[in-house]
Amino acid sequence: MGHTVYLDYNATAPIRPQVVEVMARAQMSGGNPSSVHGSGRRARAAVEDTRARLAGLIGAKPAEITFTSGGTEANNLALRGAFEGQGITDFIVSAVEHDAVLASVSALNAFVHHLRVEPNGRPDLGQLETLLREIAAREGKVLVSVMLANNETGVISPLGDIVRLVKDHGGGLVHTDAVQAFGKRPVDFTGLGVDLMSLSAHKLGGPVGVGALVIREGVVLATQNRGGGQELGRRCGTENSAAIVGFAAAAEMAASEFQKFETLSAWRTRLETEVGSIAPDAIFFGTDSPRLANTSCFAVPDLPAETQVMALDLAGVEISAGSACSSGKVRRSHVLTAMGADESQAASGIRVSLGWRSREEDIDQFLDAWGAHYRRAKERHIVRAAQ
Ligand code: PLP
Repeated sequence: MGHTVYLDYNATAPIRPQVVEVMARAQMSGGNPSSVHGSGRRARAAVEDTRARLAGLIGAKPAEITFTSGGTEANNLALRGAFEGQGITDFIVSAVEHDAVLASVSALNAFVHHLRVEPNGRPDLGQLETLLREIAAREGKVLVSVMLANNETGVISPLGDIVRLVKDHGGGLVHTDAVQAFGKRPVDFTGLGVDLMSLSAHKLGGPVGVGALVIREGVVLATQNRGGGQELGRRCGTENSAAIVGFAAAAEMAASEFQKFETLSAWRTRLETEVGSIAPDAIFFGTDSPRLANTSCFAVPDLPAETQVMALDLAGVEISAGSACSSGKVRRSHVLTAMGADESQAASGIRVSLGWRSREEDIDQFLDAWGAHYRRAKERHIVRAAQ
């Protein structure tokens, strides 16, 4: 067997070696950014320098960036913080959001409206407009949360249209979970016109356990982590300066590779074309929409995602089921279900996601392993059917 082929960048990307070096230096220099002595001042300077660099990358002001422990915490701070801090009465969340959004709002004492998506994975803007009208008519205060790019299908949302609709119907806040888009394509916070945006470092070759919530100037959120007043009191707790420094280093490297990243779509096209010729019954998701260049999501009815992931793992190819939860157990994908997939399709969806270290040979190895699994499964099915 050859070396292991990693095709699960949307779960986490391998950390970039240069990031490890930058982080090791920051870790060794030590210091608490809140301390007044030299070590503390150096750590503070590193955090603030990083904040300014990151702000420059995303078209935000440094003070608009609050560092968090990752995308999940950023989503929780955005939604729970706005609920308390802005008196939100209604949340409109797209049906394909990450659990960190869906679970955050479901725990709150507010109206939660799930925004349908079209079969192409993009939100139903007609339904959004109807909901916004109803909420405005009873003078509710709304927050709309729609992700910039979907983690399972890579489908990119029409955020400009969403922001315009919200502004046209009495205003409200717009949050976007940009965890998957950030580092894969340019993201401009001010240009998008959103109020809140969640980021995470480990999807782009940075460390796990650090991210940020970008909060538009003037938007006040209720703190979810109380304590020593760090991050302008928005998220208390000693800043993880080494991870923060690593986050910006990875983001800058990813930004310098956007053009190269776009070329991944040629390998994705090859993969989807060859899967389609091996398996005429395969269904591809999100192909009619703008998608992240690195992501392919497809299903073969009655070929369970779980067994595909296991068979490929045995063959040295690492991918994921459309929807795997933290325990690693595969559930029916709520994303594919929302896109109109039936039960069997939603339980068979797999995701292949490429990234900064991918090579074209990885596609060959995937196709060999997946094709072998598909043929074995079909033969067994035929034998079983004939008995
Ligand atoms: N949002 C999206 C769209 C994601 O894909 C993920 C990670 O899977 C998260 C949020 C959670 O981010 P983190 O792992 O940094 O908490």
